[in-house]
Amino acid sequence: MISVEEALERILAEITPLTTTQVPLPEALGHVLAEDVIAQEDIPPFANSAMDGFALLSQDSQPHDGQPPLLHITGGVAAGYVADQAVKPGTTMRIMTGAPVPPGADAVIQVELTRSDSPESEWVEILEAVAPGNNIRPAGEDMRRGQTVLLRGTEIGPWEIGILATLGWASIAVTRRPRVAILGTGDEVIDVHESLRPGKIRNSNSYLLEAAVRRAGAEPQRLGVAHDTVESLREKFTEAIQSDLIITSGGVSVGDFDLVKNIMTEQGEIHFWRINMRPGKPVAFGHIGKVPLLGLPGNPVSAAVTFELFGRPVIRKMLGHSRLLRQQVDVVVQDGVSDRAMRRHYVRAHVKWHNGHFIAHTTGNQGSHIMTSLLNANALIIVPEGGTELHPGDTAKAIMLDWPEV
Ligand code: AMP
Ligand code: MG
Repeated sequence: MISVEEALERILAEITPLTTTQVPLPEALGHVLAEDVIAQEDIPPFANSAMDGFALLSQDSQPHDGQPPLLHITGGVAAGYVADQAVKPGTTMRIMTGAPVPPGADAVIQVELTRSDSPESEWVEILEAVAPGNNIRPAGEDMRRGQTVLLRGTEIGPWEIGILATLGWASIAVTRRPRVAILGTGDEVIDVHESLRPGKIRNSNSYLLEAAVRRAGAEPQRLGVAHDTVESLREKFTEAIQSDLIITSGGVSVGDFDLVKNIMTEQGEIHFWRINMRPGKPVAFGHIGKVPLLGLPGNPVSAAVTFELFGRPVIRKMLGHSRLLRQQVDVVVQDGVSDRAMRRHYVRAHVKWHNGHFIAHTTGNQGSHIMTSLLNANALIIVPEGGTELHPGDTAKAIMLDWPEV
């Protein structure tokens, strides 16, 4: 049995980012940049006004004998146009926010600090002295031509899309989304629309995993449920090997019908199949042909937790993310954890910030078949291996499931 850390390291060592594809900018949301984004232009591309006001020579704003200077308005420049003349000493031009600063001018004074008889007036009084550069946004102040603005591996959100649009990237190279085949196993497992019959349970894992896979950024494909026969599994796997990753649930422990391991040996290889953790000891990792296979446990809570710990980082690595793992924080475990496990225990909990601490409340019965222990859980408290008991008020590390990866 290997540790969670060793398992994760060995799994990730086998995973490489997928190929690159070009997507139109509006479709790039949620994808991962497959190339560095280097500015090809200065942004702003030209020095422009930060205010509606008057472009002038800053030295012309100095009062004369305590009197505000009076400048001759020779014209105006609106956003989207360029001035047809230069600003000369003793003159000024009206200017709008975003309009290029006319040649000659080295400052803009906002309209509120000036006085004119009327909007059409040819003369304006300058009520305050301004320094060179006042209200001017210089070319390249934000981004410089040649500057690396975004790094490959960055997830594209609305703000990155804004930057890319600014730089004129109408389409962008991103890493392709992995196609993930999801396969349930077990003669007892029936589909969600079927009525329960004696001995049968509904397939929750495939639906839960489909949603979790999609949330991780991949394209899930549910392949239904294989019966507990080698033939049935073989047939499902012929379809599954079209994908980038296969995720199964059930059929990987030590029972007579735990056939996923057999198929892995027959059609590929098993790298390992047990991890020192709870819930979820029977996690198998290997390959079917060249396709990585993550065999998750059948118990729904185990499947959910092991997907978070192993499946999600795998998908993120395939997606080219530079940040693979969830953040951990120290939490005060309000109600303690008394059921002692020799294996590393991931206890579902709700964590919130309270009076200067993160405090955690466990979500009740932690059996790996108790699906309701997932409800309201936004964190996994890590109880170290070796039978550690957490008393109420003890501090422990928790993995934050609703914080972004680091
Ligand atoms: P196994 O690892 O196949 O022995 O399954 C362990 C437990 O998980 C058993 O109680 C199964 O009935 C249950 N189980 C297996 N697959 C599913 C599934 N797709 N949905 C819900 N429960 C499952
Ligand atoms: Mg089974």
